[in-house]
Amino acid sequence: MKAYRMTQWQAAPQFCDVDIREPGPGQVLVKVGGAGVCHSDLHVMDMPAGVLPYALPFTLGHENAGWIERVGPGVDGWAAGEPVIVYSVWGCGSCATCRVGAENYCAKAPLFSGGGLGHDGGMTSHMLVPAARFLCPLGDLDPRQAAPLTDAGLTTYHAVKRSLSLLVPGSTAVIIGAGGLGQMAIQILTALSPARVIAVDLSSEKLAAATSLGADATVAADDRAIEHVRDLTHGAGAELVLDIVGSDDTLQLAVSVARRLGHLTLVGIAGGSLQFSYLGVPTELSVASVFYGSISELAEVTALAQAGRIRPQVELFPLDQAARVYQRLREGKLHGRAVMTPNG
Ligand SMILES: [Zn+2]
Ligand SMILES: [Zn+2]
Repeated sequence: MKAYRMTQWQAAPQFCDVDIREPGPGQVLVKVGGAGVCHSDLHVMDMPAGVLPYALPFTLGHENAGWIERVGPGVDGWAAGEPVIVYSVWGCGSCATCRVGAENYCAKAPLFSGGGLGHDGGMTSHMLVPAARFLCPLGDLDPRQAAPLTDAGLTTYHAVKRSLSLLVPGSTAVIIGAGGLGQMAIQILTALSPARVIAVDLSSEKLAAATSLGADATVAADDRAIEHVRDLTHGAGAELVLDIVGSDDTLQLAVSVARRLGHLTLVGIAGGSLQFSYLGVPTELSVASVFYGSISELAEVTALAQAGRIRPQVELFPLDQAARVYQRLREGKLHGRAVMTPNG
């Protein structure tokens, strides 16, 4: 089968011929329905050798959903043909964090590793999943539509859920960056909380999309954005600010519109930094970066999609267009989330 693979650091991925691997004990072979195209793959491609703990080559694609093809010995409870979504971060399964399902923060596995991230992912017709615990049933959801739930959905779901206690009636959440992840965050906030949602972006098109997905107010990311957001919160600032971009500028905006005792949660990996000083940051503001969510949170965000409360905005492409699609992602020309469909 053809697979779209990282074969060298700081070089374009290549299409290679690889064998379909048979599932061993406890493993599951998944026929890939959809493999999402994520911005973080561009960071992986651009990384110099030695930064990420990944051995090359490996197949890209860390947002995967499909159908069970075959199960290995000892795997019970899954039937061939059943639609599933694949949890992307593969922990050890036995350390204290893995045992509560938070395999994204496994104490033993290398940082940020899983299918499509150092291990073979979903940009190919069949993907070997090393343990059945990494699968959640999709029910009636189409794997091609659901694939982005594993990263864009799960990451934003976790980022919102950890701050739900702050999001009481009358509270405000600010989303900086209204692209794929931001649009998912807006839908999740609207589904889970009574908070007023303010979306900030450079693009008027993305702000219009934010409004259609439930944002209560939108603010253009110009040099008056801080003032506009603070006015919308009557000067107090927002209980939760989600920075989906993560540049110097967006982090400055985030800290300037956050409220005392609030949360500033960094999702985007643009690599910017934040000045921290006693008077420069709201008192008792908690700042955290997040990476994915737990396996149980993947089941929860999947349930939200099954209930029709959130809808990933996807554009589908055949796998052989992968290089062109990543180029369009790099140029900012994709609307919603691009999903490769290796099996049509
Ligand atoms: Zn990703
Ligand atoms: Zn672990």
